Amino acid sequence: MKFICIGRNYADHAKELKNDLPTEPMFFLKPDSALLQQGVAMYIPEWTTDLHYEVEVLVKINRLGKYIEEKFAHRYYDEIGLGIDFTARDIQDECKRKGHPWEKAKAFDGSAIVSKKFLSLEGKNIQNLDFELEKNGSIVQKANTSDMIFSVDRIIAHVSQFMTLKIGDVIYTGTPAGVGPAQAGDVLKGRLEGQLMFSQDIK
Ligand code: ZN
Repeated sequence: MKFICIGRNYADHAKELKNDLPTEPMFFLKPDSALLQQGVAMYIPEWTTDLHYEVEVLVKINRLGKYIEEKFAHRYYDEIGLGIDFTARDIQDECKRKGHPWEKAKAFDGSAIVSKKFLSLEGKNIQNLDFELEKNGSIVQKANTSDMIFSVDRIIAHVSQFMTLKIGDVIYTGTPAGVGPAQAGDVLKGRLEGQLMFSQDIK
């Protein structure tokens, strides 16, 4: 399985990192080895001094598909989760400066936090979900999926033109404003539609 991650999908976040707004969904991948085992602490790698959290709504693909039309994209998922796209911001800035790929900064072991539970979308509108991230008791990121620049269905239509979506693939749908550093001793709690989805210790 693969993680497909969407960059700059919330205007306020693109602005905080001084990036232009994209004109089509922008994506990158994390390999399956990026998944942090559930219930295990995240150890900050020794090669970064600026590890950032990015809370994101996750969509789990439940059908195989390629060249999926936007109007049919909703048939390819029925559950949502919440996760963190951990990013070594110092390394990412260096990659951007050099015009290099982002994998070193985004795809390292433990960089993908995935909630243990996923919620059924039955009776819910995927483009109207509240989510937030709490760091040591204070809310640091808070948004609604209605603020996405590109909808989940548009993302699926776009990405599936380039790569086959497989059962079990997970899409990170982008992070809103409020990203910041995670330090040893921090506890990050993610909530989706008011439900606690994960509690992540940082070491
Ligand atoms: Zn992200």
